[in-house]
Amino acid sequence: MTTSVPPKLTVVWFKRDLRLQDHEPLHHAVSVATDKGYPVLPLYLFEPDIMADPHHSERHWRFVWQSLLAMQRTLQAAGGELHVSYDNAVAFFRRLIAAHPHIEVVSYAETGLHCTFERDKQLSALFNRHDINWREFPYAGVQRGITHRRTWHQRWQQLMAQPALSTDLHHPHWYVNKSMVNRVPGDIAARLHQPDDSKQPGGEHHAHKLLASFLTDRHTHYHRNISSPLASFNSCSRLSPYLAWGNISLRQVYQALNSAGSKRPRSLSAFASRLHWHCHFIQKFESECEQEFRAVNHAYKHFPYRDDDKVEADLAAWKTGTTGIPMVDACMRCVNHTGYLNFRMRAMLVSFLTHYLLIDWRLGVQHLARQFLDFEPGIHYPQFQMQAGVTGTNTLRIYNPVKQAEDNDPDGSFIRQWVPEIAHLPNEELFAPWLIPPLTHMAMEQPVPERYLHPVAQPDEAITRHRGLLWNWRKRDDVKREARRILHRHSIPASQVKPNR
Ligand SMILES: Cc1cc2nc3c(=O)[nH]c(=O)nc-3n(C[C@H](O)[C@H](O)[C@H](O)COP(=O)(O)OP(=O)(O)OC[C@H]3O[C@@H](n4cnc5c(N)ncnc54)[C@H](O)[C@@H]3O)c2cc1C
Repeated sequence: MTTSVPPKLTVVWFKRDLRLQDHEPLHHAVSVATDKGYPVLPLYLFEPDIMADPHHSERHWRFVWQSLLAMQRTLQAAGGELHVSYDNAVAFFRRLIAAHPHIEVVSYAETGLHCTFERDKQLSALFNRHDINWREFPYAGVQRGITHRRTWHQRWQQLMAQPALSTDLHHPHWYVNKSMVNRVPGDIAARLHQPDDSKQPGGEHHAHKLLASFLTDRHTHYHRNISSPLASFNSCSRLSPYLAWGNISLRQVYQALNSAGSKRPRSLSAFASRLHWHCHFIQKFESECEQEFRAVNHAYKHFPYRDDDKVEADLAAWKTGTTGIPMVDACMRCVNHTGYLNFRMRAMLVSFLTHYLLIDWRLGVQHLARQFLDFEPGIHYPQFQMQAGVTGTNTLRIYNPVKQAEDNDPDGSFIRQWVPEIAHLPNEELFAPWLIPPLTHMAMEQPVPERYLHPVAQPDEAITRHRGLLWNWRKRDDVKREARRILHRHSIPASQVKPNR
């Protein structure tokens, strides 16, 4: 007598890959599982433990929520349902397995934080106990367990050149369980449903629209405006949240860029390099994820950051944009409010924290993660450390906030927008109000707020005090030894990287 084995339920678990096209796990489920007659269950989990992690803020979950609504509309039009639950993954899968012992799970491998790594370990143990196959597909050329980067670039190029996967969503036998479709508690759903100040709504179609507008005309001044805190809002691609949460794949962007023409203008070549950096940085974090807790260059373990009674107050001023340095405050208020800041201004905020205030980079890294709508652990940590100067491999870049204001906000509009209390100052006083002579200040009709006369640190004085320490530390033997190790482990041989077209 033969017993019939029920068909396996194929669970497609979406995480930071919130799209329905060029999605390898979904494509696999639709093509392979459907051929075998397995029903497909698309799943997203709002995991309370991950949501409570201090790197995340409601801004992120609202973007996720918007992305899911867009996916749900498309799936429903094809006869499917996205199942969304508010549950820790282990608890959810334990219940699912009790109801459906025959499942397999497909997802992208996540280069995540300690909290997602721990969750994955528990989940693997659960799946092993139940003999459940969890297939994780590599994300955009990022490889697990590699010890060098000798062939990495070549493989990345090959992957980007392969055709993007087009999935017929009308094809599969969708699993639909109405009681599981939306299990997000009403109060949480209502909060997530609120629009965010970022003005960048989540969803696949928004990503593609933004990409098209960048490639057709917005890119023209990309190179010129990339460091301007105001102009970059329009001249940069602004694709980062869509890439970070997976509304669009790196390959879709790369191929759209290539189809824009064989002779790339300089602006688009610069953009192409950054797409490569995106994966290069995530690979660094994948290969050494302890970077969440310590400097990649271990010799910075004992770097003498400040430990005095004023650290807490200075850190709070940095986080709230109330340091008394106009450009620093404008940038922090801007990112706190909008979720976006261009590369140079992010770097300047980190430099101000670590080089001018001499505060440990680890005390600021989570604050900016919560603010950036595009928070991507694999880029954020290596970039934060690089700008803090704790890698020992990159040139130490100390960004003077007064010079940054003069160079990148020469007419002061950005500062006036975000620091209105000093908007009345003429340009020659706006960037460094503490230099206004007392007699001039006394004669002013509208006085300068105290904070801008006595900032937390005067940039020139502070850097004169700290420069020697910062540069001398780099010359230590242990820093150099570590730098050699890092280069060996993470750098791509120059012969591998062809110049961008
Ligand atoms: C301290 C610090 C923290 C950062 N944290 C993040 C983060 O959490 N998430 C994030 O996506 N970027 C991060 N960046 C990198 C960079 O600032 C943003 O990717 C960029 O400003 C996003 O704007 P855009 O999409 O208009 O970029 P564009 O200039 O249009 O670039 C296109 C894409 O390339 C990638 N990219 C651009 N610059 C870099 C870079 N320097 N390193 C790696 N990838 C890059 C991004 O995916 C970006 O969307 C950080 C930079 C610094 C200095």
